[in-house]
Amino acid sequence: MCKLKSRPDPFTGKRKFHNGIDLHARGDKVLAMMEGTVIKVGQDRASGKYVVLRHGEFTVSYCHLSRILVGKGAVVRPRDAVGITGNTGRSTGEHLHITCRRNGKSVNPAKIFNYIKTTREKCLAALAEMS
Ligand SMILES: [Zn+2]
Repeated sequence: MCKLKSRPDPFTGKRKFHNGIDLHARGDKVLAMMEGTVIKVGQDRASGKYVVLRHGEFTVSYCHLSRILVGKGAVVRPRDAVGITGNTGRSTGEHLHITCRRNGKSVNPAKIFNYIKTTREKCLAALAEMS
């Protein structure tokens, strides 16, 4: 699967938290992390083709896609494919750029990954206690 990597900004050479994280990718399916709704799809010079999902108070954007597989307003379930990674927009090599916002403020996507991980662990523990 994807490997986390902090990469220097190819345009300034500076290593920075550019409002998100970059994952290595090569024609990979981009999957919804949670249940949610597609609130925006589009294309611009910076982000290339992008998809924005809303999960409650969180929004998650996936950028530089080669293909978008969902339309605005679509309801997604965990692991639904919403796009295919690519190298569109302000990007010098294929990668998946993920940004997250909570109530409009940028948050590190790693927090969402941790949230999903701990929630899943709690569910599994609860199920184990039932059996
Ligand atoms: Zn990036």
